[in-house]
Amino acid sequence: MKYQIYTARNYKKMSCIDKISKEHQRDIDVVATVLPFKTNNYVVEELIDWDNYKEDPIFVLNFPQKGMLKAEHYEKMARLLDEGADAATIKEEANKIRHQLNPHPAGQSSNVPEINGQKLKGAQHKYDETMLFFPTQGQTCHAYCTFCFRWPQFTGMDDLKFAMKEVDGIIEYIRKHTEITDLLITGGDPMVMKANVLDAYISKILDANIPHLKNIRIGSKSLAFWPYKYLTDSDAEETLNIFKKVTQAGKTLAYMAHFNHPKELETEAVQEAIKKIHNTGAQIRTQSPLLNNINGKAEIWADMWIKQVKLGLIPYYMFIARDTGAQEYFGVTLENAWEIFKVAYTKVSGIARTVRGPSMSCTPGKVKVNGVTTINNEKVFVLEFIQGRNSDWVNIPFFAKYNPDALWMDDLEPAFGKEKFFFTDELNKILKSGKGN
Ligand SMILES: *Cc1c(COP(=O)(O)O)cnc(C)c1O
Ligand code: SF4
Repeated sequence: MKYQIYTARNYKKMSCIDKISKEHQRDIDVVATVLPFKTNNYVVEELIDWDNYKEDPIFVLNFPQKGMLKAEHYEKMARLLDEGADAATIKEEANKIRHQLNPHPAGQSSNVPEINGQKLKGAQHKYDETMLFFPTQGQTCHAYCTFCFRWPQFTGMDDLKFAMKEVDGIIEYIRKHTEITDLLITGGDPMVMKANVLDAYISKILDANIPHLKNIRIGSKSLAFWPYKYLTDSDAEETLNIFKKVTQAGKTLAYMAHFNHPKELETEAVQEAIKKIHNTGAQIRTQSPLLNNINGKAEIWADMWIKQVKLGLIPYYMFIARDTGAQEYFGVTLENAWEIFKVAYTKVSGIARTVRGPSMSCTPGKVKVNGVTTINNEKVFVLEFIQGRNSDWVNIPFFAKYNPDALWMDDLEPAFGKEKFFFTDELNKILKSGKGN
């Protein structure tokens, strides 16, 4: 299948456009001035059920919806469009609105590692064992998720030389940091990279022959948004050969697949692509945020995990949606997130209970909501770190005052009249020491 992109500019050329009501088309036009909008022919033709598009989770995942903007923001942008405002004016207003949507949530911006006084801009080293690497050419995606706010960084540059220089610093850093066992290549989506660019990175890393680097992880949504990357794209074969190269070098290749809904697992194309990736010796683990209006029900998660296990995928994380973008539209309270996780988890056998969550990736670490309980007549959240800025914090239960409206870590206060959490002082020290956030 040939890849065809649809954005705000050309989506009205889709063959199914008449299925979308005029009113809905207008909503798309208005909201897309502020939020990212990009989809493609696979999503449109094979994933979305156009006869029921209004309720279709994949439609909501890719197409901007009225409720994703606050009413006042929607009206402002609608008025500008009606008045025929010029592109610059629209852009200026859109940027003002974006600034109010917390486009750089915790842990996304700084926290840049250094080697020999040189900053490694495309990298992040927050937890001891794992280094994140954002290759320059992987900063876009095959389609954009409406809940995502990484798009301020989407650039789509293509410069092989820059890539080579970038990875040299990463290799040197990993060599010196013997605690690093995992390199997680992420984006955007690194699997938008052409095979020759991905190969340039991976080959260099393998050739560096670093014994303590055991696992190479690739975080990607491409199985859900463009499985033809592994089937019919001109570089499909070469891409799979790169994966093979990793496993044949004796490293684990863990493909961290983003799936938001069981529908994404149902096409012949995705199932074929999964087989191809497994045949390279790679393992595939899965993760997704919990999103109201897309997957906000326990049955959907249980169904998704069961389908994943059937396809040989390993459920890994359920995340709580970040405090950014259209959070009022997608947000689920911490209490409901725990309820949904719990109900879904008890519907699946131990084989699928490899999944952990619901978890918030916030400044101090990955914080898992273990539940709501009452201790000494005080209703509390029971929390623990899955990952911490200090790994000693991991797996220690701690408690926050019950708050039925809490959506994120920032909404929580310590329980039992305490002034701070057990990690607060140390976290402040870490942040002050310039290790960023
Ligand atoms: C989740 C995450 C990792 C990887 O953590 P694992 O628990 O090993 O999957 C690494 N770095 C950052 C910043 C993360 O958010
Ligand atoms: S694929 Fe990932 S990075 Fe890309 S838009 Fe979706 S959530 Fe964001």
